[in-house]
Amino acid sequence: MNVELFKQDFQMTQSAHQAHLVYRVYVPNNLSEIQVRFQYGPIVETDQVMIRQAVVREGLSESLVQDETTVRNLLTVSINDPGNIRGAHHFFAEDQLIIINEEKATEGFLAGKIQEGFWEFIISGHGVFSNVITGQFVVTGVSENNQDKNEETVPFKNLQFEAVKKNRSRKPKEEPIQVKRLELHSHTVHSDAPQTTEELITQAENEKIDWLAITDHNTMTALIEAEQNNNFNRQVRLLNGIEYTTFYGHFLVHGPREQILFDWTKLSKNTIEQYLKKLKEQDVYITIAHPFDSGNPFCTGCRWEYHLDHLKFVDAIEVWNSTNPHQSLSNEDAFHQWKRLLKNGIEIAASSGRDWHRLYPNEAIAYTYVLVPNNETEDDILQALKLGRTYSSIRPQIDFKVNEIHILGDRVEDYAGEIDLSVHLNQLKGGDTFQIYSQHGLIYEKVFTGEKQWEEIIRLQNDGFSLLRVEMLNEANERIAFTNPIYIHRS
Ligand SMILES: [Zn+2]
Ligand SMILES: [Zn+2]
Repeated sequence: MNVELFKQDFQMTQSAHQAHLVYRVYVPNNLSEIQVRFQYGPIVETDQVMIRQAVVREGLSESLVQDETTVRNLLTVSINDPGNIRGAHHFFAEDQLIIINEEKATEGFLAGKIQEGFWEFIISGHGVFSNVITGQFVVTGVSENNQDKNEETVPFKNLQFEAVKKNRSRKPKEEPIQVKRLELHSHTVHSDAPQTTEELITQAENEKIDWLAITDHNTMTALIEAEQNNNFNRQVRLLNGIEYTTFYGHFLVHGPREQILFDWTKLSKNTIEQYLKKLKEQDVYITIAHPFDSGNPFCTGCRWEYHLDHLKFVDAIEVWNSTNPHQSLSNEDAFHQWKRLLKNGIEIAASSGRDWHRLYPNEAIAYTYVLVPNNETEDDILQALKLGRTYSSIRPQIDFKVNEIHILGDRVEDYAGEIDLSVHLNQLKGGDTFQIYSQHGLIYEKVFTGEKQWEEIIRLQNDGFSLLRVEMLNEANERIAFTNPIYIHRS
């Protein structure tokens, strides 16, 4: 079966003399052969005016040009697979067919496995002497079996669900803990939002957000602007961030010390792990954004389609994205998948982000609330996020502890007896429901009739719980708040 991977008509004017035209084309899995059809013309230029101009451009004397003088335009093709140079064939021909497969290859190219990933096809303008050269470049893949192209349509579906505990110390903090309001996902005019950096920061201050992460698409230049305008010393504090926005998914990176710009255009579906690992060297906080978004053609590249063998380099999954997150089906899918990961022993945080591009009237805004020591630094915020010391809420304020000292994100070590859960809720409304979940499901529920706040100590037998977490629903049974878990370990 032949699959057309890429087709491009091109035109080169003299300005392309000694320039390279690079096509980076995705080559899928399981192809046995790559074929390149390359055509261009003219090869021989006979027009005396053009030839004279070319000679002068090169600083030579026009007298070198005789009536019968001709020159040849030379374009060549070089090919690199995702890891290696596969070769080039430097010759003059108007119509070229290059074939590369595991056993053999056209002269100038190396035979070998057709690796999945982005291949580079480079047309080099060794000599462009005509006014215009036109041509066509076509890449075709040959596959021996008709495999299903979309084998993984559900994000994380094929993960090996090994119950790998993150090797994290989840000790209770000694110092007093306070709650800070965060926005982890926002955009400015530095990417596709109409709001300026100043407008965004001002609005964040109006909303009493304590920490704001500006996460523009594939750039951090808004932070340079903020720095120049001294915006790092305002009431709202800024957290460095970026949203890597690729063809196969978006992920947020919080906390890089400097501008981190890696070449995301080289990311293919199977190679993301090495990039995440590299980013992690900077001790950043990595969140997979809106993994279950509908994706193309409605939201370009928004759905998570990367293959991951594990979630070692991922700190969180954004289970609430955009405004009114409680009403979105794709968020519900992400939330469900997060619960599935927890159930399988994978300690990963759930996060929320407004994906703030503009202000909508009457929107239900969800904020992230983070538990940090007094006088928190950017580092405290990042450490708390990594541990999942957060809850997300559209309204209710949640204080949830185990045995008085363990807060969200902690691990209660070696505990077999009775567990005291202290709960303190604020900003309640009639019809709200408070729920406690273990890894297996719902274990406690309480519906409110009109009280604004509620305080209770709930005593439970530790029934093999590996985690406990809270959800809250409103009158319409929509989820309006959730916490990350408190983990419980029994050796
Ligand atoms: Zn996004
Ligand atoms: Zn975004």
